[in-house]
Formats: sequence, C-alpha cells, structure tokens
Amino acid sequence: MALLRPDTRTDPPAAPGRATRRIGASLSRWFDTGTGAGTHVDPDRIDWWRVAPFIGLHLACLAVFWVGFSWFALWTAVALYLIRMFAITGFYHRYFSHKSFKASRAMQFAFGVLGASAVQRGPLWWAAHHRNHHRHADTQADVHSPVTKSFFVSHMGWFLTPRGFPTDHAVIPDLMRYPELRWLDRFDLLVPVALAVGLFALGWLLEIHAPGLGTDRWQLLVWGFFVSTVVLFHVSVSINSLAHRWGTRRYATADNSRNNALLALVTLGEGWHNNHHHYPGSARQGFHWWEIDITYYGLRAMAALRLIRDLRPVPEKMRNARLEAAA
Ligand SMILES: [Zn+2]
Ligand SMILES: [Zn+2]
Repeated sequence: MALLRPDTRTDPPAAPGRATRRIGASLSRWFDTGTGAGTHVDPDRIDWWRVAPFIGLHLACLAVFWVGFSWFALWTAVALYLIRMFAITGFYHRYFSHKSFKASRAMQFAFGVLGASAVQRGPLWWAAHHRNHHRHADTQADVHSPVTKSFFVSHMGWFLTPRGFPTDHAVIPDLMRYPELRWLDRFDLLVPVALAVGLFALGWLLEIHAPGLGTDRWQLLVWGFFVSTVVLFHVSVSINSLAHRWGTRRYATADNSRNNALLALVTLGEGWHNNHHHYPGSARQGFHWWEIDITYYGLRAMAALRLIRDLRPVPEKMRNARLEAAA
C-alpha cells in the first residue's frame, strides 16, 4: 500500500486542467457517489479532497470544549450510537451483506436509511466491500486486512483512497434489483445531513420550551451528531482492524479472525468475529448463550413482533466443526 508515502511516482506531473478536473470530481463525490472513478495518479493514495468532510467530522468533536456538557446531550449521543450501531450490525452486516434473515422491502429500506445516518456510506457499497472481505479474508486481495496491510490501512486508510471508493456491483446482484437502494447508495450523504439538521432544530426547540434540561442547539449537534458518529465509526471499523488481530480463535478458519468479548460488547455482538467467519450465514454471532450478542437479541425481538422473519440459526454440526487445535 502506498498510503502517506513520499511522492516517488515517476509519471509526469498532471497538467493544471486535469488536476482541476480531478479535484472537481473529488468534491462532487461528497454529494453524489455516482460520480465516475476518475483518473488518479495512484489509486492507493489518500484522496484528501474527497475525504475532507470525514476529517471535518473528527475536528468538529473538539467543539465539545465550547458547547459544554449536559446529561441530555450525552444520552442523546448514547442513544444514537446504539440505534445506529444496531442498524449497521443487524442490517448493513447481517441482512444486506449476509442475508441471514428476511425482511420486507419497506423494512429493508427503512433500515438502509437508518444505517446511512451512521456516515458509513450506503448499504450497497458497505455490503459489496464486506462480501469481498469474506471472499478474500486476510489475503492480499482483502482491502482491509491488518495481516497483509498496515493497521492504519485496515482501520480506515482503505476507504480514504480512490481504490476503496467504487461499489463492486458484480457481487451484489440481489441488492441492485431495488432502485430505492441504488438511489440511497448514490445520495447517502443526505441522510446524515438531515440527522444533523434535525438535532440542531430539536436542540433549538428544547432551548426555548424545556430550558430545565440545560441543553441547546449546538450541544445536540456536537454531542448527538459529531461525537456519537465518530465513536460509532471507530468502534465499527475496529472489527476490520482489531478483530483480525486481538482475541481467541475457536475455529480453524483460513483467515486470522478472532473472538473478542470486549469488542462484542461495544459493537453489540460483532466481536465474535471468528465465529462469524466460520459460519457467516447465521443471524447470530455469539454461538453460545454466554457469548453476548445484543444485535441478535434485537433481531429476535423484531422477529417476535413480525417485523422480520426466518432468522437463520447456526447448524449444530457447524458449531462443533473445525475447532482450532490447541489455539
Ligand atoms: Zn472479518
Ligand atoms: Zn460478515
């Protein structure tokens, strides 16, 4: 990987007109992910223009020192963390990527929108990259393996580059059938922008009508959106980076995936990652009762309410198969 390396390319410098077009295309991708892949000198170099909002998201968290603290703002951040984490793990991952249960078209769109509010792009992009991760896990072709790449690349570097930007439509034909999902995937930025505006408006209303809460519009924006989103992001992608390095191995999978109880708690169940690589088709990733998998409990509750159906279990023979020899 060529991230952050000194400029050692041998190509002639880009002509000014071509460089301007390239920056224009990078900026256009903020709003419309359908903008073509463009002509980049190095597909593995960070596209700083495109990822400027992502950097801004992190910098905006520093505003906590100006806006101050209230319990209401903190609990808003926690609630939005939990709800959006569930949308990512239950739907982006276990539904869109692995089809481990069934949902109506309306339900899949609703959770696609909720997932998009987490600023992890749209469900098609997410699922396509994830399916390729399982196909090539921890080989050179796995774009976010911490075994064959650096920790930084496995955690976040991989999608900051032009190579990580496009969606591999070939691996998601089942999802490409839905025009509403294609539209959401193309303009996914609209969702987090709407959430940020909504939080700001809510904070403004509370400032006027419920001053006893001690919160205001800037607090809800900074805590509820920026802080919550940045923490949610780094915890989510730690499954790509940390859960392929730290933890124990129950199953002799071909990759380096690990089970990690702490990651399972903070990701609502995704930390049972060695289980998951062993049998990705199951709606549950904690394979035993003591492996806490909060997403699975949420999916069970949704199934009991008939909001989703046909949760796929772990077959007994898979649960007992291919145990790691004295790991
Ligand atoms: Zn993995
Ligand atoms: Zn998976």
